[in-house]
Amino acid sequence: MRRTIAIRRRLEFCIQFLLCSSLFMALLKILQYPDERLHTIAAPVPEVTDEIRVLVQDMAETMYAAPGVGLAATQVDVHKRVIVIDVSNTHDQLLVLINPEITTHEGESDYEEGCLSVPGIFGKVPRAAQITVEALNKDGERFTLDADGLLAVCIQHEMDHLLGRVFVEYWSRMKQSRIQAKFRKQRRKVM
Ligand SMILES: [Zn+2]
Repeated sequence: MRRTIAIRRRLEFCIQFLLCSSLFMALLKILQYPDERLHTIAAPVPEVTDEIRVLVQDMAETMYAAPGVGLAATQVDVHKRVIVIDVSNTHDQLLVLINPEITTHEGESDYEEGCLSVPGIFGKVPRAAQITVEALNKDGERFTLDADGLLAVCIQHEMDHLLGRVFVEYWSRMKQSRIQAKFRKQRRKVM
């Protein structure tokens, strides 16, 4: 009997926690290709303020909810050099990159990429296999990260967004036109 009460209390606590956390969650709208705003060049962040930390939190929640492994501020129509990434299976290793710059790169990778702004489209684009990136974290502290594998590809993909570039734009014009037509048709159906 005591055990049943304990389980019920734990369940009630979990439900309360879920309700509370959902109240504070701010899911941002992700721009969908071929939205012109995806071609905006993001500006450097002059100072990591509380406003930037709220943006980082909202972007992380939006990325986890989507679900995705990376999101650039450009994709939520905020044109500042801010990126969130989590390539872990456990979704508990959030990486925040503010004003990121790649300082070294080598090798070639052949990961198949996808994008929350181009749902359902996957393909390879030329990327370096290993990179070193310098950036600020959410506390405004500078750090250096050596990355390879999926993480390296993800960082390069998100950094392209900050320059107004979507991964499908590495492909032929004909392929891009086909993808654009598909998304415009889908949008007309929704409207
Ligand atoms: Zn993307």
